[in-house]
Amino acid sequence: MNFKKWISFGLAGCFLFSGCAAQREQAQAALENSQQENRYEATSFAMDTVMTFTIIHEDGEELLIDAEQEIRRLENLFSVTLDDSEVRQINENAGDKPVHVSADTLALLKTGEELGEKTGNAFDIAIYPVVKAWGFTEEEHSVPSQETIDRLLPLTNLDGLILNEEDSTAYLEKEGMAIDLGGVAKGYASDRVKDLLKEKGVESALLSLGGNICAIGSKPDGNPWKTAVQNPIDENDYVGLLEATDTCIITSGGYQRYFEEDGKRYHHIIDPATGWPAESGLLSVTIVCESGTKADALSTALFVMGLEDALSYWKSQNDFEAIFVTEDGEVVATEGLKDSFTFEGKDNDFTYRLAER
Ligand code: ADP
Ligand code: MG
Repeated sequence: MNFKKWISFGLAGCFLFSGCAAQREQAQAALENSQQENRYEATSFAMDTVMTFTIIHEDGEELLIDAEQEIRRLENLFSVTLDDSEVRQINENAGDKPVHVSADTLALLKTGEELGEKTGNAFDIAIYPVVKAWGFTEEEHSVPSQETIDRLLPLTNLDGLILNEEDSTAYLEKEGMAIDLGGVAKGYASDRVKDLLKEKGVESALLSLGGNICAIGSKPDGNPWKTAVQNPIDENDYVGLLEATDTCIITSGGYQRYFEEDGKRYHHIIDPATGWPAESGLLSVTIVCESGTKADALSTALFVMGLEDALSYWKSQNDFEAIFVTEDGEVVATEGLKDSFTFEGKDNDFTYRLAER
């Protein structure tokens, strides 16, 4: 195995989860070899993805259980498919009555709504009627007719979501409306687990929720955690390495979930303006941001926007950085990542550019 491949398996990142079984075993072995004192690690499947948590702490074993329980608790609130989730109840009572929700659900709905407004609706937590018509989340994929999309699109308007903070209720005004927190739930969950671990005194940990990475502190040796930014066209390769200390790194891409019909590929990130999978010229967007919730929402939103609008949006904000991989083979990193991102895609014909403010 060449050096580059070896790093990708040794790193905690998307690679651990996307390769074949043998590669996963190799990754596991690499991690076990690097076991240190007080280093605890567990892998589980939740929120429809593989999660690996690495905690450096003497109580790591118990903390891993606490972390997993927190993830399950949140999944039971936010899942759009689990029968009794709060999101399911909001959706089932659309057009009928407000539903009492927990502080977590209310907070995430509110943040989702705000980020929708800020991104000109590129991010839309009311997108579910359209996502469902495409068969995503229920894995019964098919291309809906244009009439179906035209009928459903008005139901994705976030104005119809009424949040009452005093009563802690959420209400969808029109029957047929439905919430989908799939674009932001994992980021929110990583923030909550991060808070929980920090409260218990953890100063060094790496949380990986599918392609969503959240670093607490740095590695025990004081060096930053290292993650790889996946090559969207080859899951066993990467376009660069990113150092992370106390930050979240979240990637969205059309290559992650998709289906093919009549030789054409349809992925799971929907452009709320059209109801079709976003065709913005991007293969992936990676967001680096202290808030995992924000990073998750923005990775989806900026993927929908496309490079030019996404860079304008980045210039208008000051709390995140981004890496874009375009269909033209360009890797573009924003200038705040100048020192922490190392481009490695040259061998695979990617070109690299740093975007300045
Ligand atoms: P992943 O969940 O694979 O990490 P994302 O964070 O980009 O990827 O979220 C994609 C999911 O979000 C979709 O599966 C769908 O449930 C939902 N979604 C799709 N398009 C949008 C959108 N424009 N705004 C908000 N959520 C979306
Ligand atoms: Mg997202």
